[in-house]
Formats: sequence, C-alpha cells, structure tokens
Amino acid sequence: MRKYPTDEYEKEELDALKAEPWMIKALKCNPDYPYWGNYEDYMIGGKGWAERAEIESASDLWELNDLNEVVNFYFEICRKHHECEYCDGSGLNAGTKQISDDWYDFENTGRQWYDNITQDEVDALWENKRLRSDFKEKPTAEQVNALEKSKFVHDAINRTICVETRAKRLGVYGYCEKCEGLGYIFDEEKAHMELQLWVLHPRKGCSRGLRVKNVLQSDMPKVINYLQEARKRNDDRFSKIEGFLNDRR
Ligand SMILES: [Zn+2]
Repeated sequence: MRKYPTDEYEKEELDALKAEPWMIKALKCNPDYPYWGNYEDYMIGGKGWAERAEIESASDLWELNDLNEVVNFYFEICRKHHECEYCDGSGLNAGTKQISDDWYDFENTGRQWYDNITQDEVDALWENKRLRSDFKEKPTAEQVNALEKSKFVHDAINRTICVETRAKRLGVYGYCEKCEGLGYIFDEEKAHMELQLWVLHPRKGCSRGLRVKNVLQSDMPKVINYLQEARKRNDDRFSKIEGFLNDRR
C-alpha cells in the first residue's frame, strides 16, 4: 500500500496488511503520485547507471552527491502473499465463482450468460446507476440482452453486479473461505515497510529506481534526515533563479 487510505476499501486493505502505526504514519509523508517504481514502466530494465537497484536496509543508503540525487520517493507497506489457489484469486466461493466464470464461459460449458441476463439483474444494474448511457428509462432484460448482442454494454462492474445478484438469487453467494475474499494468501505474519527512491545521476545523464527492501522503525530518523537532505539539494539547485527577475542593476 502506497497511499494513506481514504475510503472503506482502502481501509480494509490496510487492516488486512496488519501494519504498525508508525508505518501508517509514514504513508502520510508520501507524495500524491506514487504509481511508479522498480519493475514498473521503464524501471523494469536499464543498464549500468540506469539499471534499477535494490538494497537491503537503510544503512546501505547511497551517499547524496552530484552523481546521486534523490528526486522522488515513497514509503510502501508490504506483506508478501501469493494468489489463493482455492479460488484462483477471485476471492469467491465455489458456487459464486462458477457463475462468474460462466459469464463469458471461456471454457465452453454451454452456460454462457453475459447476453442473457434476467430482469432482477437488470433491476440491480439500474439501481446501481448502470445502463444509463444506453437507456433513458429502466429497460427490460430483453432490451439489454438485444443491445449486448449488437455492441459492448457490460463492463467488469456490470459483471460483478450481475454475478452477485444471480448468486444471491440461487442462494450460493459468498466469499472464498480460505482467503476470506481477498483472492490472495499472506506468506508473512505481518507487514514490513519498503522505501522506493528515484535517483538521478546528472553527470551520467540517466536515472533509476532504488528500492530499500526493509525499513525498520529505528531507521526512520536516519531515513527522514536523508530525505530532508535530498529536498535541500533539490531546492539549492534551483535557488538562484529568482535572481534573474529581482536583479534591477
Ligand atoms: Zn480464495
């Protein structure tokens, strides 16, 4: 988790991680946009001074100098996990998962139903403010199915709503008992914290992601000092620009 939770889904996700209070506090230090990092986008590869790197702990942090400038960062609460093998990561119990799989029926069982939904499913979609771009008034199931056959009407949200409605009607609705609906199973007892840095090497003309794999609570003063130093270095590089407009000589 890279952002301080703001809605109930994110709070549930955070609860499941079993994070310590200081970790949650650290999330509040993060910049607004934390969706980049090692193994993501162009940080997936690179060579030499552009190759993503990992270090074990805060004591291995690279010294800041004109070859290593930290320009961005975020803390991430992590807890190692693997996909739940009982529900294939769907988080659904067996009966509900079958209804969900049958929607497109990629296995050709003959139970496909994405273009054959029932009126109670249409009602549920309408109540959830779906179908509104295609229909001014609540349509019949026949109208929705006919339109679905001619163009793409249902997205993943519609599918979820229809699956839940049908599974409840059939009395099978529920989450996977093994993973309690998460779709994955934790391999660690509790969370640990990682730090993602973006390091520029101006004299080498490149940059890369640097990951600190385990930050301890006792490391936090050192880490915050490090980030403060990085911030000052960034400020200092731009500190003379006002002079151009202010210099009246
Ligand atoms: Zn499961």
